[in-house]
Formats: sequence, C-alpha cells, structure tokens
Amino acid sequence: MLQLRDIEKVYQTDTIETVALNRVNLTINKGEFVSIMGPSGCGKSTLLSLMGLLDEPTGGVIEIDGRAVTSYSDKELARVRNHKIGFIFQSFHLINDLSVLDNVELPLLYRAGLSSKERRQRAQQALERVGLSARTRHFPSQLSGGQRQRVAIARALAGAPEIILADEPTGNLDSVMGEEIMELLLSLNRDQGTTVVMVTHDENMAHKTERLIRFFDGSQVS
Ligand code: ADP
Ligand code: ADP
Repeated sequence: MLQLRDIEKVYQTDTIETVALNRVNLTINKGEFVSIMGPSGCGKSTLLSLMGLLDEPTGGVIEIDGRAVTSYSDKELARVRNHKIGFIFQSFHLINDLSVLDNVELPLLYRAGLSSKERRQRAQQALERVGLSARTRHFPSQLSGGQRQRVAIARALAGAPEIILADEPTGNLDSVMGEEIMELLLSLNRDQGTTVVMVTHDENMAHKTERLIRFFDGSQVS
C-alpha cells in the first residue's frame, strides 16, 4: 500500500546540509505490522513524516496504492492524510483543556460530510475500542500516561485510518503501560487489519511485530 523508492531527504540550513535519509527503498504491505529501530538521529522520525505525507523527500518517489504522491492534487493529498493515515506520538500530543471525548473528536471536524452526531458516535466507539468509555469527560491531566496514549490511539482510530504511524508510542510509559499499549496496537492490527508502522527503541516491543527494519545513518541496514 505504501512504497518508498530511492528516497532521499536532505535538510538544508544556512551552512549545514544533513542527509537524514539516503536511498531508502521500502514497501509496506497492507495489514503488516512493521517496527523500525535505530540510534538517535538515524532518520526514523524523518521517515515517518515522509510516510505520513507531512513532508516531502528531496529525492525519490513515494507511492500510495501504486500511485506516485507527486501526482496527487493538494485536495487529494489532504484527503489521503485525513482519511488513510493516523499518527501516534511519544508525547501523546493531546490538548489539555479539551475533554477526552473532545480530543478524540477534534480531527473529525476537518472531515466533510460528518454530522456532529456522527462525529460524537465515532469518537465514543473509538474510546470504547481502547477501553476508555468510562473516561470520556475526564481531562488529559486526570489520566495516567498509558490512558493518555489510549486517548491518542482513539483519536487516530476515530478517523478509521488504513495505516497507523507510531513514533515511539511506548517511549514515555513504564514497562507495564508500555506492554498494554503494545497489546492494543497488536490487536488493532490483528483484528481490524490496520497496517502499523512503529518506531521504537525497545527490542522487546520490536520483536513482537512481524517485521523489524533497522536503520543506521539514514539507510536501512537489515
Ligand atoms: P531519529 O528520528 O532517528 O532520531 P531524525 O529523523 O529526527 O532521526 O533526524 C535525522 C537527521 O536529520 C538528524 O541528523 C537530525 O538532526 C536531522 N534533522 C531532522 N529534522 C531536521 C530539520 N527539520 N532540519 C534540519 N535537520 C533535521
Ligand atoms: P523524536 O525523537 O521524539 O521523534 P526529535 O527530537 O528527533 O523527536 O525531533 C523533534 C522535531 O524536531 C522533529 O519534527 C524533527 O524534524 C525536528 N528536528 C530534529 N532535529 C532537528 C535539527 N537538527 N534541526 C531542526 N529540526 C530538527
């Protein structure tokens, strides 16, 4: 479903040029759970942001469902970003003065064709899926780290994405909560066929996934 061909990403600042990714070739198939490991600075976050169409490569081609992303109009791109892709981050990225339910509902506001009732329903279903239907009126500060990450996962799920891109989703959690979040991601992949690409520093988590890709210095090494 997602193909990277000869991807290069060079960051250019006034005086320095950083090669973050160097000739990366990678295919993510529908329904896969792939983990990506590698030392800090090797290009993992850059890779995820390119996969999520949040940034553009300086070389190479990204294809989604066999079609080069460069051939999409801005409108089509926005649609793919909103409908196909869900993001989860290490630091949750929740809005602290919105309730759990409002946090989950927020991205749906940018979706054409959903009534407010449908938005609410979808958000509630997503919270049920992550086991948080009893916490919809809480605020993020009233939740544990693991629960906050569940809210973030529900927010991604509410959009019914085909692929979830997770940047160290368990990085800020203790091992018990980390395990729980990992189990949740595994079950989404197994039961709903959601494709997951996860960056992690945790070998234990990575070995639970069906494919492990290692990066070093901007390139895939295994
Ligand atoms: P990782 O996620 O593996 O830690 P990153 O993708 O964040 O690696 O970074 C890869 C390299 O690109 C690093 O050398 C980093 O400093 C550099 N880099 C990342 N983002 C930028 C940016 N916006 N501008 C300049 N350099 C960047
Ligand atoms: P994480 O490792 O949690 O993914 P990072 O600290 O690597 O986060 O990067 C956070 C943000 O800062 C990213 O969006 C990345 O593109 C940007 N960034 C990373 N390194 C640099 C850099 N050297 N110069 C400018 N921006 C950078």
